[in-house]
Amino acid sequence: MSDVGRTFEARHSVCPYCGVGCGIEYAGNGRAGGWEGPVNARGEICPKGAAAWEAVEDEDRLTRPLVRESGHLVTASWAEALSRVEAAFDRIVEEHGPDALAFFASSNCTNEENYLFAKLARVLGTNNVDNCARLCHASTVAAMSERLGAGAMTNTLEDLTEADCLLVTGTNPAEQHPVAFRSYLLPAVRDGATLVHVDPRANDTTDAADRHLPVRPGHDVPLLNAMAKVLLEEDLVDRSFLAERTEGVDRLREHLAAVDVEANAELAGVDPADLRAAARAYGAADRAAAFTGMGMSQHGCGTDNVHALLNLALLTGNVGRPGTGVNPLRGQNNVQGAGDVCALPGVLPGYEPVTDPAARERVAAVWGVEPPAEPGLTEVELTHRFGEEVRGAFVFGENPAVTEPNANRVAEAFDRLEFLVVLDLFETRTTEYADVVLPGSAWAEKAGTVTNTDRRVMRMRPNAEPPGDARRDLRVIQTVGRQLVDRPGAFELDGPESVFEELTEVNPLYAGMSYDGIGDGYQRWPFPEGAESGTDVLHADRFATGERTAPLVPVGHVPPADDLAAGELVLTTGRVLQQFNSGALTGRSATLTGMRPEDALQIHPEDAAERGIEDGDPVRIENGRGEVTLDAEVTPAIRRGTVFCTFHYADSPANALTGDALDPEAKIPEYKHSAVRVEPVD
Ligand code: SF4
Repeated sequence: MSDVGRTFEARHSVCPYCGVGCGIEYAGNGRAGGWEGPVNARGEICPKGAAAWEAVEDEDRLTRPLVRESGHLVTASWAEALSRVEAAFDRIVEEHGPDALAFFASSNCTNEENYLFAKLARVLGTNNVDNCARLCHASTVAAMSERLGAGAMTNTLEDLTEADCLLVTGTNPAEQHPVAFRSYLLPAVRDGATLVHVDPRANDTTDAADRHLPVRPGHDVPLLNAMAKVLLEEDLVDRSFLAERTEGVDRLREHLAAVDVEANAELAGVDPADLRAAARAYGAADRAAAFTGMGMSQHGCGTDNVHALLNLALLTGNVGRPGTGVNPLRGQNNVQGAGDVCALPGVLPGYEPVTDPAARERVAAVWGVEPPAEPGLTEVELTHRFGEEVRGAFVFGENPAVTEPNANRVAEAFDRLEFLVVLDLFETRTTEYADVVLPGSAWAEKAGTVTNTDRRVMRMRPNAEPPGDARRDLRVIQTVGRQLVDRPGAFELDGPESVFEELTEVNPLYAGMSYDGIGDGYQRWPFPEGAESGTDVLHADRFATGERTAPLVPVGHVPPADDLAAGELVLTTGRVLQQFNSGALTGRSATLTGMRPEDALQIHPEDAAERGIEDGDPVRIENGRGEVTLDAEVTPAIRRGTVFCTFHYADSPANALTGDALDPEAKIPEYKHSAVRVEPVD
């Protein structure tokens, strides 16, 4: 790609690389820099943010549409590429109905883009639209929505500095959300807060922790139930909160009566004394805040895991006050927003169920067409039906061929599709199966809004024009919408501001917000009339369900789908500082500054010794789903019996090994527990 003729201008935007939402802009000399944004008030950014310009000027950027000819992708005009999309989608809908289409939205694209994309699916007559939040926090959203009425951080990053105890479960914010960790969590620790880190692997977050519980992957419920039992046994509960704001404490007490703390600690693979100490620190704190991440959510029992965590918060009255709550840390810059605007198969904007006639009617009043009443299929369910009920797919800004579990099965599924169109920045593993590839826009070329991990809607502004013939994503979605939908006005909206305005009409959570009102700052949902910046702490007097009380829910341990045979280890996966998702934002050749070119398999010294593996040796990791070769990193940081590798980079092979068993409620795959054999390569 040539940058000749491109002009770059520093304008306030939002970092694309995690849900913290730091303010960044073009800083000259091919670099991005921070500005004093709503979250990074001193303009600080992490190495990922600093490298964010790399993707904008990457020489591998797509600059022309591609169409498949004789098995190969060749360049084409926009007119040719879009006419193929129109013809294929029209044919599929005519022959098989609208539910034969699948729409994969993007949690690293704007609210306006996701909203129009999801609207396109619905206006065409299908709820088969999902985004990769399905793969990271669907279970968190399911549990929190059911119990509290809102699947989002209960608190704000700022007020969490008031916490006396931070219970960080299944997440490594020091590497995954560095500015939030340094600006909000570490100050609390320096002020004396106790940090308890629950993670099978010691990492940078553990370095700051007072106590580490190296939980066995897939065994969070036994650990959290044992902590709840300690809270009850030692009367560390908040009795007035239990009486006034909860229901079902007797049922939970009865369920936990059978729990043996020592036995559960052993099952979870942690020291019972450490578990008791962690429960005491959480229960004795005046303000205790829980954080949860994909180590909790990406399990077949992910929803139960979050239910068990919510029980701790409700037992101790740690909801509805600054410095408390249950706080999912989101991985991409608009995971929260993509769900808020309805890029999910079961809900309309603002999480109103598609099954609710009143909600459909309200949306129909704006769209001019009523969305279908049956929930659509989730992302993994859709992929599993490629070539059967599902014949065509539109993948926007995601790389499911890499990010979905059981990658060899996914590859076969993509092969079975009759037609695939991908809108993205780079050729990816997914575009290998595409019939049409449309060149889209990077973060620095977009205008619109994103919603960060603590519910702040913030504005992105273009720092550059897209390169070559690439186009802004919103324009592409609007064009496809106009071609496919014979409904005047449905996709004629004049730029992101108009789309946002329509969004505020159909999304009760965003009602009352305005583009101008957001300005260089933010508006946080929910946004009651007359609010200046929105609601900070949720559930203060009443839960978002509208109820004064929330239920305590007994949950039991459900073993992971993969049984361990003799000699097998548990593979768990995660992300390190320098990595971002699958390369859909960074390309195959692009590396974020300092990124490890090759991944490694972390293995405990005793597991390594048993297999004759030394540090740096190439090792084969295999199971019935696939085989991967990586170099061994022999380290006590990973618990015995478990091995760890990352999977957040382009062409990562790790998902050849992960299983596609789904959480029954949230339909999130079990990424974090796969049985594998590990042996040295001969
Ligand atoms: Fe970007 Fe997240 Fe780093 Fe902030 S903390 S600069 S949002 S990756």
